[in-house]
Amino acid sequence: MKKLVITLVCLVLVIVVGGAAVVWFTYDSVDESSVPTVQVEAAGQTLQPNAWEWSQPVLGGMLYKHFANDSTEAAQLGEYETGGFAVTFPQGYDTTITLRRDDAVVFDGRPAEWQDALTAEPGAYSLQVLSHRAEEKGRPYGEFMFEALFTVLPPPKPEPVFTAGKTELEQGDIFVMRLENIPEGVRPVTTTELGMGSFTPAGEGAWFAAVPVGNHRQPGAYTVDVTAGEDSWQATVTVSAYAYPEQNLVIDTSSEQITEANSAAAYQQYREKIPPLWETADGERYWEGAFIRPAEGGWISTEFGTIRYTNGDYSNSRSHYGMDIAVAEGTPVVAPNNGRVVLAEYLLNTGNTIVIEHGGGLKSYYYHLSALDVELGDMVEKGQLIGAVGSTGYSTGAHLHYEMRIGDQAVSPSMLFEDSAGLYSVEALAGDEAGDEAA
Ligand SMILES: [Zn+2]
Repeated sequence: MKKLVITLVCLVLVIVVGGAAVVWFTYDSVDESSVPTVQVEAAGQTLQPNAWEWSQPVLGGMLYKHFANDSTEAAQLGEYETGGFAVTFPQGYDTTITLRRDDAVVFDGRPAEWQDALTAEPGAYSLQVLSHRAEEKGRPYGEFMFEALFTVLPPPKPEPVFTAGKTELEQGDIFVMRLENIPEGVRPVTTTELGMGSFTPAGEGAWFAAVPVGNHRQPGAYTVDVTAGEDSWQATVTVSAYAYPEQNLVIDTSSEQITEANSAAAYQQYREKIPPLWETADGERYWEGAFIRPAEGGWISTEFGTIRYTNGDYSNSRSHYGMDIAVAEGTPVVAPNNGRVVLAEYLLNTGNTIVIEHGGGLKSYYYHLSALDVELGDMVEKGQLIGAVGSTGYSTGAHLHYEMRIGDQAVSPSMLFEDSAGLYSVEALAGDEAGDEAA
């Protein structure tokens, strides 16, 4: 009996030890190679998990063998000039994705909701993917975590572009320039002995400037230098002479009106009121499309730039800086283009006077008016009534003295009625409906 007991105990021991050995052998034979390969593809690169844990069943799930890998550094995918690249996620797992751009969550969801366009915006990205398989008796389970960092660069900045308008110009014409792709916050600057060349915005990143070729500008070549931040350009403008007519003006200088208009006080007042305006330029361009005639009908009694003598005194010449339009007293005077009224008052020398700033220092001047229909500071539109023709100030008959200047340099008003004027040579004329209505 005792012998039988010992035998049974030995048998049980053999079974237990043998079974344990089998279990041990089986358990030991399960190694990391049982952990599946799970990958994420992003931007053509294969991401391995940064961290994972995996439980593999042994002997049909009687036991589980656990494997784990601690988190490693996020994968560095580098920089991309264009984003929106494809990302593919593991199949057969419960996957959640978190995408951050510049530390803000831009996506938090499932692969089915993912759109590659989510990586299109420039910025610093972090992509996190968690692929999970839930525990279920007898089956392997675990999870894989992926993390990748990448940068989508902003689109390369386009190179600045400088465009010069007509460079072969007659006295009285205007040289223009256009700049494009100028970085925000940079204001271009012009340097030239031709005169003011103040840049005004002309659309996103674009600027426009008009430089006068005054009636007295000596024929020859002139340089125009432009700088915008780090960039600079130079244009050469060739000025040719315009044959200005001469005119002998016969005036009764003893009349009360002429005596007052011609007085020292009149010139003193003129110097106080008008030349200071030459120095000013609005930093915004108001004018659009070609300039229209400020007064209809009549005839040009004195052209722009005419060399004038008075009462046959040929030792004394004076230039006429505007054009005189001889029309009946009371003829409406309209704004030839959009602008801002910078002077509207009676002056002894020029009579009822209006000055309109059209932007960038380009101004129009109206003298000898019989009526003023605008006030200082008014914004006017092309074709809007501003006053009426008269004969106030230094004038012997009803006419409109119409003058245009950029800075202190007088330019030809009549050239601006033509599409071929230098002023219009870098931009297509558009939005000229007001002109058509007034014509
Ligand atoms: Zn005049």
